[in-house]
Amino acid sequence: MENLMEKVVNLCKRRGIIFQSSEIYGGLSSSYDFGPLGVELKRNIKNIWWKNNVQGRKDIVGLDAAILMHPKVWQASGHISGFSDPLVECKSCHRRFRADEVKDKCPICGGELTEAKMFNLMFKTFMGPVEDDASVVYLRPETAQGIFINFENIRQTARMKIPFGIAQIGKTFRNEITPGNFIFRTREFEQMEIEFFVHPKEVKKWYEYWQKERLKWYIDLGIKKENLRLRKHKKNELAHYAAACSDIEYKFPWGWAELEGIANRQNFDLKQHSKFSGQDLSYFDEETKEKYIPYIIEPSAGVERSLLAFLIDAYEEVSGGRTKTTKSTKEKEIILHLDKRLAPIKIAILPLVRKKPLVKLAKEIFNSLKSDFNLQYDEVGSIGRRYRRQDEIGTPFCLTIDFESLEDKKVTVRDRDTMKQDRIFINELREYFWEKFK
Ligand code: ATP
Repeated sequence: MENLMEKVVNLCKRRGIIFQSSEIYGGLSSSYDFGPLGVELKRNIKNIWWKNNVQGRKDIVGLDAAILMHPKVWQASGHISGFSDPLVECKSCHRRFRADEVKDKCPICGGELTEAKMFNLMFKTFMGPVEDDASVVYLRPETAQGIFINFENIRQTARMKIPFGIAQIGKTFRNEITPGNFIFRTREFEQMEIEFFVHPKEVKKWYEYWQKERLKWYIDLGIKKENLRLRKHKKNELAHYAAACSDIEYKFPWGWAELEGIANRQNFDLKQHSKFSGQDLSYFDEETKEKYIPYIIEPSAGVERSLLAFLIDAYEEVSGGRTKTTKSTKEKEIILHLDKRLAPIKIAILPLVRKKPLVKLAKEIFNSLKSDFNLQYDEVGSIGRRYRRQDEIGTPFCLTIDFESLEDKKVTVRDRDTMKQDRIFINELREYFWEKFK
């Protein structure tokens, strides 16, 4: 199964999905750049999540907070004190423990531990021209705090009533001791987080709700059910702010690992920010006349981790080939069965041969569809080779223009998964694809 990981990494490099950062300088470890196809895939994931959780719901609104925040945010949140102790990290499950609380093995999985190090997971930098203590700022290690400190702004301006949520997608930085497994664990990544504010008595209900809801999201987007599971944290695994947490785990080639955490953060963060800022962040319920500090259920997902899971789950390799053109050459064929909504390229436009009338018609079709769908035009190589190039990046449809098209005004549309071919009138293509991508 490790082999599968190598294959996916190779595909990512070869097809410009993901590159090692700073490659021309020998690379920067655990930093990656998303190439032309990778950036599309990443955007699709974020857009679907946003549509699903923000635009498609009346009880959640969005936010895009600054990465740099007042340093007191991190004192209040516990990230400065909680992460400055001598720490050891388990080399296999990557959980961190205070060096004085563990012996020579990981108390969770029995794995080997790193040397103890004084360690703060936050990247520190300086704001302004003077590098002194007064100008220290941190790169945020979670997007969540930007939401908590805007709780009152948003509640008032968007006139939200509990239960409600605030969602954010953004860059996050953690100076991980042991990054690795390609884009699974890096020092710079993106999170998609919802902070859902509830009445303390309704915590259990919403905690259950979000576990189900988020698990369903991955399944709806095509991840096989048997490769997903929910795992409840043990008491000694919980973060300092959490009363309970469940991880959605994916069966990666190296074993089960976290895709997303759903935590009950209690009222820890709002209480702390009230205390440190001196501003009352409690909520007053107009109807019941009750005043309380809301509890928070937090589904927190990583963009790159889900992207990796989507790629791995979609990957299929057919030896000997599934098309006539490859059977004879005994080549392996790769097919990425990505959900249509995730696919970086939706439709490939392929003139059968590079002949003037076909190229002209193909370009006309390209222009007529380009504002509706992300397309790729390709006229280089045999048609079989071009189909395979599209199959391995997950393009759901290939549209071929042949000599008959000039006569009957129809083109061939080939389906990536079934390889079924339909002849469709050119002037009906837009409608045809709208139906397919609905
Ligand atoms: P882990 O136990 O794997 O270190 P975590 O429990 O610290 O993760 P959370 O704080 O719950 O992670 O963050 C929420 C999500 O952010 C994770 O489920 C994961 O998808 C993503 N994430 C966390 N750390 C990283 C990282 N170093 N690289 C990429 N994604 C990450």
